Amino acid sequence: MMGPAHSLSGAAAWLGVGAAAAAAGHAMPWPVLVVGALITAGAALAPDLDHKSATISRAFGPVSKALCEIVDKLSYAVYKATKGPGDPRRTGGHRTLTHTWLWAVLVGAGCSLAAVTGGRWAVLAILFVHLVLAVEGLLWRAARVSSDVLVWLLGATSAWILAGVLDKADHGATWLFDAPGQEYLWLGLPIVLGALVHDIGDALTVSGCPILWPIPLGRKRWYALGPPKAMRFRAGSWVEIKVLMPAFMILGGVGAAAALNVI
Ligand SMILES: [Zn+2]
Repeated sequence: MMGPAHSLSGAAAWLGVGAAAAAAGHAMPWPVLVVGALITAGAALAPDLDHKSATISRAFGPVSKALCEIVDKLSYAVYKATKGPGDPRRTGGHRTLTHTWLWAVLVGAGCSLAAVTGGRWAVLAILFVHLVLAVEGLLWRAARVSSDVLVWLLGATSAWILAGVLDKADHGATWLFDAPGQEYLWLGLPIVLGALVHDIGDALTVSGCPILWPIPLGRKRWYALGPPKAMRFRAGSWVEIKVLMPAFMILGGVGAAAALNVI
């Protein structure tokens, strides 16, 4: 899928989690619902850091470009080192290491750890990166025509404001984990969810996605998971734009209403 569909599906998934959390008696305060949806929208672009023309690889200028090169090389090296007898030869790292459940969990856990131990600046940094990505993903072309610097400013100011709202008592820093010292521990959840939703989205496209790695399936360790071939579509096709994206918006709206106990 392309950036906007990944971001929309990520946000919709978090709003669905909000509905489930409300049903389970852990209702999200509204800032957690909103900030979580934005983080998931941003995190849903992150696995494509292994591809140099992806939104995330261009979003932070030379920094993300350099990071993209490292991630691509690392992914390719890991692929070569762990490939099973049934896995095909590859020439690059796209859609390998960063497109697995293990990567999603590691990145999410790393962000939770940073948020809990790193204090306010770590929280602000995590919010900034994901808000910039959310703007790029959700506003897409509108963000492309403006300058990168404006998008960064928008990300930085919204990160500052939203962290201020979350910090207030009962507004969100202690959602789900409320023991002393666990403020912002939940921040990794939308990050794991975003990456997983990205992987599922890619699995629906023609080439599939090796989500299960390193768990082997038959002779393959990088089995490209996906539905039967006839049900897959090409990235950016009409199915994605005319069917899936409106469906994500409707599902997200229903999820948000349920999460806030409106329905
Ligand atoms: Zn991808």
